[in-house]
Amino acid sequence: MHFVEVILPLSLAKTFTYSVSESEYNYIQIGMRVAVPFGKSKIYTALVIDIHENKPSLYDAKEIHQILDEKPIVNEIQIAHWQWIASYYMCAIGDVYRGAMPSGLLLESETIISQKQDVFVEESQLSDEEFLVYEALQQQSSLKVKDIINILNKKNIFPVIQKMIDKNILVLEEEMLESYTSKLIRYVKLHSKYDSNEGLSELLELLKNANKQKEIVLSYFQISASEKKPVTVKKLVEIANSTSAIVKALIDKEIFEEYYIQVDRVNFSGKTKEEQLKLSDTQEIAFDSIKESFTQKEVCLLHGVTSSGKTEIYIKLIEDFIKEEKQILYLLPEIALTTQLVRRLRDYFGNKVAVFHSKYNNNERVEVWQQVLAQSPKAQIVIGARSALFLPFSNLGLVIVDEEHEQTFKQVDPSPRYHARDASIVLANSHQAKVLLGSATPSIETYFNAQSGKYGLVEIFKRYGNVMMPDIELVDLKEKYFRKKMSGHFSDTLIDEITLALSLGEQVILFQNRRGFSPVIECMTCGHVPQCPQCDVSLTFHKHKNQLRCHYCGYSMAKPTNCHVCSSVDLTTKGFGTEQIQQELTELFPNTKIGRMDQDTTRGKFGFEKIIDSFKNREIDILVGTQMLAKGLDFDNVSLVGIMNADNLLFHPDFRAFERSYQMMTQVSGRSGRSEKQGKVIIQTYNPNHNTIQQVVNNDYEGMYKEQLYDRKIYNYPPYYKLIKFTLKHRDFDKLKEGSMWLYQVMKQNLVIPVLGPEEPPISRIRNEYIRTILIKIPISQPLQGTKKTIQKMLNSFDLVAQYRSIKVIVNVDFY
Ligand code: ADP
Ligand code: ZN
Ligand code: ZN
Repeated sequence: MHFVEVILPLSLAKTFTYSVSESEYNYIQIGMRVAVPFGKSKIYTALVIDIHENKPSLYDAKEIHQILDEKPIVNEIQIAHWQWIASYYMCAIGDVYRGAMPSGLLLESETIISQKQDVFVEESQLSDEEFLVYEALQQQSSLKVKDIINILNKKNIFPVIQKMIDKNILVLEEEMLESYTSKLIRYVKLHSKYDSNEGLSELLELLKNANKQKEIVLSYFQISASEKKPVTVKKLVEIANSTSAIVKALIDKEIFEEYYIQVDRVNFSGKTKEEQLKLSDTQEIAFDSIKESFTQKEVCLLHGVTSSGKTEIYIKLIEDFIKEEKQILYLLPEIALTTQLVRRLRDYFGNKVAVFHSKYNNNERVEVWQQVLAQSPKAQIVIGARSALFLPFSNLGLVIVDEEHEQTFKQVDPSPRYHARDASIVLANSHQAKVLLGSATPSIETYFNAQSGKYGLVEIFKRYGNVMMPDIELVDLKEKYFRKKMSGHFSDTLIDEITLALSLGEQVILFQNRRGFSPVIECMTCGHVPQCPQCDVSLTFHKHKNQLRCHYCGYSMAKPTNCHVCSSVDLTTKGFGTEQIQQELTELFPNTKIGRMDQDTTRGKFGFEKIIDSFKNREIDILVGTQMLAKGLDFDNVSLVGIMNADNLLFHPDFRAFERSYQMMTQVSGRSGRSEKQGKVIIQTYNPNHNTIQQVVNNDYEGMYKEQLYDRKIYNYPPYYKLIKFTLKHRDFDKLKEGSMWLYQVMKQNLVIPVLGPEEPPISRIRNEYIRTILIKIPISQPLQGTKKTIQKMLNSFDLVAQYRSIKVIVNVDFY
């Protein structure tokens, strides 16, 4: 008898045994996919992780349906890494497998398939089976894989579907099909030879007989005098009442130069690519130190202030590893950031750069998977968000984790709840690859590892090109309110600075953290605040749509005209979010273009990129946004950053609140003054003397680190303790209460470490499910694996208690 051991893409911790024929046995290799039946009538794509002759003792092994690959598409390093993730993060191996593979490689009977829009299908080119599927899709817009099984009347249909996907005829339902290319705005400026007064008269002389062209030139002066902003071709044509053909003529005559702000900023200022690639002395020293550190240690932290030119150092380093023909993985916290970076890297490395993230459509993701698998030069450098670390690297040389402090590297939902930075360090280890972590504001954990000598540490304290760090000014809100110097949420100081920046044609960023501070409607008579009927939260007021909405479940209702409790019509809005800031700005600065970047405005597929682009293109003067703004964006015309209210960052019931506040404020401040001129930052706060705020003002990372580390030690938090959080959920309040108490008691009795809870979190009900949490703290001196095993046993026995089985338990190891 011959068997294969497989992982199923389901939330199952076990692997399963299927039987195979002798010829299949000889053909199959570890890392190939097989289609297998599971449950009553379902078919899944399983992954072979072992081939053996051990008959399972508990069940009869079913036969596989078919082998799906000719060669392994997952390698053994990956399988071992996934097993490590399952064990370390206490989750099912099936979850890891499912999270790791592009869904295009994981067809199953429930997968929904439809025909790709706007693609011409040559019917005569289809095989009979393909034609049947195609024809069925003319009758209905989508089909499940199991419908196709019926249509073709056979089980082995995955290859047919796969072929049709490859032929660009079919797509999987959940896919994003659009792709976004940023639009470029054309600008013109006067050629430098006409910059002087003499040059100017020479120019007018030159155009004496070209009236239409002269008109354009005069309009150009008019616009640039009144607006102090780059002049777009569009505007020029509009104001001069002319045509772009005439502008073109002026460009041909070298009277105007055309440029695009987005890509050509460097070219425009006349630098060549080689010049640009040259590292400054400071960068050179850092670069050498990193290489030196790599001879001793696997991981190195590059701690460099915002705008110190870390990216250029990464590029140099990548170059070295390219020469050694190694694969390079470049992890970013946010997919939204990739557009900028990809452009930068492609400038240097051409078509060696591939991008991988979950928002890419399936074909693209499968393609990158195949390229990495084949060690294709096209994917020698892979840029991606966290899931890119699951790609089939076989020759990884370097992992870069940029903005390593970002919490989005930790996956919250669904399982596997892994931390991409930490998991990539483990992965790099199995490839004997090096890891470079980069940040202007490293996480306490990482800096601790660097300080204790586990990681190398390289620091840069000044900005590239000796650009000064921004000048940070504090505004005391208490005093401003007392002296009546506030207009809405704006102090006179902030208004003055905005006015000044705008008058110089510079751009402004205003930061308003909305977490837990959204505008709500409150009854002035009885104090009632409308709540979500399904969650334990107040509904957020959205002025724009005149709606109340729940951010947790999406519930919405029209804004009430009177109080639901006492019927009073005296309702008021409380709290402030980005939308209200935007509203106030419109009144304070009526003639400026104001943009907003938050979860609502970036919801669309490329919402984020679009806003960033119009800001870079200077179609927006003031950008109001949430923490999305903090993430390493590089704008060169921003001279002022305003933090509307630092206090709602600081006061969160979270042991990382001060660390995060420091990081966020420093990162947002770092968006200011990235070119020659010193940038300005205004922080409005009720607590100007708060340590964290003072540390931000003084750019005192070290001070922040020491203070926080001290607290972490006193209160038993990372890096001194490992935290595991258990979240229990159920619709029945009493059952949940009992069940979580049961689990707590068992843990308390069996673990000689702090077990806290069961606690009702601040938001204790979401989508009608009640929530309790238990937190355990494992000292780093204690063996982790053993403790986790004990915990797993307790969870298993919890599952065996009949009345608690329906309680969901979510395990979050190293939660962020
Ligand atoms: P960081 O990632 O440290 O915030 P960046 O890598 O974005 O900083 O660099 C800040 C700015 O300085 C960018 O506009 C970048 O193009 C420029 N820069 C950095 N190093 C160099 C260099 N060696 N030559 C030319 N420009 C550089
Ligand atoms: Zn009321
Ligand atoms: Zn809700």
